[in-house]
Amino acid sequence: MYNPKSLKAEEFISHEEILATLAYAEENKDNLPLIDSIIAKARECKGLSHREASVLLACENEEKIKELYDLAEELKKRFYGNRIVMFAPLYLSNYCVNGCTYCPYHAVNKHIPRKKLTQEEVRNEVIALQDMGHKRLAIEAGEDPVNNPIEYILECIDTIYSIKHKNGAIRRVNVNIAATTVENYRKLKEAGIGTYILFQETYHKESYEKLHPTGPKHNYAYHTEAMDRAMEGGIDDVGLGVLFGLDLYKYEFAGLLMHAEHLEAVHGVGPHTISVPRLKRADDINPDDFDNGISDDIFAKICALIRVAVPYTGMIISTRESQAVREKVIRLGVSQISGGSRTSVGGYQEEIRPTDTEQFDVSDQRTLDEVVRWLMEMGYIPSFCTACYREGRTGDRFMSLCKSGQIQNCCHPNALMTLKEYLMDYASEETRKIGEALIEAELDNIPKEKVREICKDHLAKIEEGIRDFRF
Ligand code: SAM
Repeated sequence: MYNPKSLKAEEFISHEEILATLAYAEENKDNLPLIDSIIAKARECKGLSHREASVLLACENEEKIKELYDLAEELKKRFYGNRIVMFAPLYLSNYCVNGCTYCPYHAVNKHIPRKKLTQEEVRNEVIALQDMGHKRLAIEAGEDPVNNPIEYILECIDTIYSIKHKNGAIRRVNVNIAATTVENYRKLKEAGIGTYILFQETYHKESYEKLHPTGPKHNYAYHTEAMDRAMEGGIDDVGLGVLFGLDLYKYEFAGLLMHAEHLEAVHGVGPHTISVPRLKRADDINPDDFDNGISDDIFAKICALIRVAVPYTGMIISTRESQAVREKVIRLGVSQISGGSRTSVGGYQEEIRPTDTEQFDVSDQRTLDEVVRWLMEMGYIPSFCTACYREGRTGDRFMSLCKSGQIQNCCHPNALMTLKEYLMDYASEETRKIGEALIEAELDNIPKEKVREICKDHLAKIEEGIRDFRF
């Protein structure tokens, strides 16, 4: 029944295969020779199968877990250096016809005001985001064919890309909207989107159907097969995710990796990113009503395991997590984080963070400037780079750049140049000082001399007011 090449959800995410995987993992969780061989395979950057990674997830041997964390840290450094890509979510509309029991936007929630941004409001939100320094957005919307049809989403994307306020620009729009048709994915591709992101929420079909009792999202197969349709529509960067807390994490973890294996088997390229959201308190939603919440330690272990199992896949963490948790998992393999986020429709234009239409409580409420400074103080380079997809390095072309080891001659200078833009245009005095010293020191970490010289030249031009250099 299990077939990673099948296009049928129940066959590439086979329930029986997940149960067999969990049993195998449980049987082998103390099998140290096997665990050592799995860690050795991961060390060679060959990635891990869902079965192998599940054994490590089940393993409770502290020494081995420490080895896993060290390896995750090492692979993170090897493939992503010390760069962290920055983004912000932009909520377009909270109209929704679905009944997701964990989301405050569910259709029967009558106590939140329903709001949909007009194009003028999109403009104002984008100007506020540009004034913070953001270059990359993830747009978010509920599913509502009447209020938020694809034409509305496309119009918003056009508006977002068209706004050039002062030195600002949004150079990459990622899209997190409900599963849709191949035709609509093609339209999104034509609109110039970056990654199409869709969280599976849960891979457990029976739970999925209970958690999505009404609306089009109830259809498990349609939702689970969405990435195949997106790829058929020409989108080759897709982002997976599970909402941890809904079902058993070991089940979700195996399903997530099976999904990645399926994309690789069918399309020759795995997911561009994996997000790791955890269920949060929100209007009408109490996380305690759900039984499967995971501790910070298990959460960190999952992040480390994703890093070693799919070393070329970016990992995203949002402001659902606190500063302390983010600090821990960034080290273990996270490559993208949001900063200064507001999860309400129209939230960026407001002086004070509005909470009436918030999708979930934001734990990390610091400003983008504070997040940027914090990253730099920990030795990371906040990167506002959007070069890859603008240079056509998507899908397998991005993966080959990653695998070739050339990333340090490309992403590293791009990170420094976009950070420089941020420092010149948006940073506070203190952040700028720390950033300038960091750039100076990090120039030495560009391996090719020629690239280093070009980068220095571009940095000088940024000082003169020219923007948007990239390798
Ligand atoms: N409506 C789209 C869909 O159905 O896929 C996507 C947009 S939704 C705004 C983005 C994600 O927020 C959802 O996929 C879900 O995983 C997450 N989410 C919903 N309720 C949440 C909560 N209470 N806490 C944390 N994340 C939540």
